[in-house]
Amino acid sequence: MCGIVGIVGNTPVSQYLYDGLTVLQHRGQDAAGIVTIQNNTFRLRKGNGLVKDVFHTRHMLRLQGNIGIGHIRYPTAGTSSSSEAQPFYANSPFGISLAHNGNLTNAEELKEWLYKEACRHVNTTSDSELLLNILGHELQSIGNFTLTPDDIFTAIANVHQRVRGAYATVALVIGNGMVAFRDPNGIRPLVFGKRESEKGTEYMVASETVALDACDFEFVRDVAPGEAIYITENGQFFSKQCAENPRFSPCIFEYVYFARPDSTMDKISVYASRVEMGKKLGAKIKQEWADEDIDVVIPIPETSCDTALQIAQTLDLPYRQGFVKNRYIGRTFIMPGQEQRKKSVRQKLNAIGAEFAGKNVLLVDDSIVRGTTSEQIIDMARASGAKKVYFASAAPEIRFPNVYGIDMPSATELIAHGRELDDICDLIGADKLIFQTIEDLVSAVSVANPDIKAFETSVFNGQYVTQDIDQGYLERLDALRNNETKETSDKNADSIIDMHNEGAE
Ligand code: AMP
Repeated sequence: MCGIVGIVGNTPVSQYLYDGLTVLQHRGQDAAGIVTIQNNTFRLRKGNGLVKDVFHTRHMLRLQGNIGIGHIRYPTAGTSSSSEAQPFYANSPFGISLAHNGNLTNAEELKEWLYKEACRHVNTTSDSELLLNILGHELQSIGNFTLTPDDIFTAIANVHQRVRGAYATVALVIGNGMVAFRDPNGIRPLVFGKRESEKGTEYMVASETVALDACDFEFVRDVAPGEAIYITENGQFFSKQCAENPRFSPCIFEYVYFARPDSTMDKISVYASRVEMGKKLGAKIKQEWADEDIDVVIPIPETSCDTALQIAQTLDLPYRQGFVKNRYIGRTFIMPGQEQRKKSVRQKLNAIGAEFAGKNVLLVDDSIVRGTTSEQIIDMARASGAKKVYFASAAPEIRFPNVYGIDMPSATELIAHGRELDDICDLIGADKLIFQTIEDLVSAVSVANPDIKAFETSVFNGQYVTQDIDQGYLERLDALRNNETKETSDKNADSIIDMHNEGAE
C-alpha cells in the first residue's frame, strides 16, 4: 500500500506535502518523495526510508513552488530499491510527474505496448512508471500544445481504456496543473479538500482525510471511481467522470487494517467500521462459544484496539491492554523478508505478565495473514502464564493473494490458504480460534454508507473485481514476488539506486 498527496496552493506547498505524508506514513515506510514545480522546473527529492529521514532541511529548502505532489511507498510489485521511489518523472509531453497508489494488473502487456507502439522506455520494474508513460502517451496523442480541461479528461478516459487494476493517482503537468484520478472500481481511496486563503482557493488531494486534517484543508468529497479532477496552476477547478462504466468496489482491507482510524474514506469512518466489526464478532462469539470461559479481552495493538474494546463490551468482559507496543518500530508486516518479519514481532510487542497470569484470555487481532504474528503472540501469552489462549480475527480467513497493491502476493504464504479453521488454530497454537464472516465484515463496513453495493474482497473469496485475473496470472505473481525473489532483489537493489536518486543531496 502507498500513500499519495497533492496540493495546488497560493504559497509554497512543500511543508504541507511533508506534513501530509507524515500522517500517511502508516501506509508505507519503504520510501518517500516530493516533487514541486518552480519556474516550470520540477524540484524532486525521493529516497528510501521514512519521511523524516528522506527530507532534511536542505532538501525542503530546494523544494520550492506552490504546486506539488508526494508519495510514500510500501513495496509490492518490484523491489524495495530506491529507484522505485516515487514520484516518477517523464520529460514528454511538457514534463510530467506522477505518484500512484495501487497495482496495475496488465502491467506486462502495457510495458510491451509502450515499447513497441509508443516507443517509450520504462527504466524500473514499477507499474507506476508505466502508468506515468501511458498518461504521457495519451496527453501527447491529443496533439495540442495548450491543453484544455477536456483534453486532460480525454487523456484520462483513454488511460482507463488501456489500464487495468487499482490506481489512485496524482500527477503534475508542467505549464498546466495537477490532475488526480481513480480507477473505475475506486479500489484505492482518494479524497480532496480545499482551503480559502487571501489569494484564493487552494486544493489538496490525499489517500485519506487525515492528511487534509493535518494540513488544515476542509474535506470536500471523495474522488469518484473513474473520475478525474484537474486543477490548473492558477487554481481553476474542473472535474469529470472519465470512465465508461464505473463500478464502485473499494478495497475492504483499508478498513480492516490499512487506514488510520481517524480517517473517513468513501463516507465511511474507519473507526466506526472497526467498532462495528467488534459488534458483529462479539455477537458471533456469544453465539458460537456458548460455554465460553474468557476472563479478559486483550487487543493486539494497535489496529485491533477499537474492535477488541467493542467485543469486550458485547461480551460484558473486562478489556485490558496486555501488550505494550514499541512505538519506534515500523509495522512488522511491511518489512521485506520472512526472517526480518519474524524477529520484529518480538521487538515490537511485549506482554504485561499480570494481565495473563492464571487467566483465560481472548486475543483480538485485525487479521491473520501469514500467521507469524499470531503464533508468536500466543506463545508470549502462554509464557506470561495464560491458562487458555483464545484468538479472534476481525477479518475473515485470508486465502487468496492480493493483486491491487497490498503485499499478500503468494497464496502459499497465507496460513489460511487451503486450510480450515481447526488446522489454522493448531498451527498458530490457540485453544480456540474464530474469524469474522465475510458477510458480517461487509455489513460492518457498509453500515455508514449503504450506497456502496460491493467491496473489493478478493483476499477472502478469490473474486477479483477487475475480472482479468486467472490462475496463470496468480502463479506468475507468486513467482515474481515470493519471499526469495524479494530478498534477492533487495540484495541487488543497491546496484541501481543511483540511477534515479537525483534528488537534491
Ligand atoms: P501475520 O499473520 O503474522 O502475517 O501478520 C498479521 C498482522 O499484520 C496483523 O496483525 C495485521 O495487523 C498486520 N497486517 C495485516 N495485513 C497486513 C498487510 N497487508 N500489510 C501489513 N501488515 C498487515
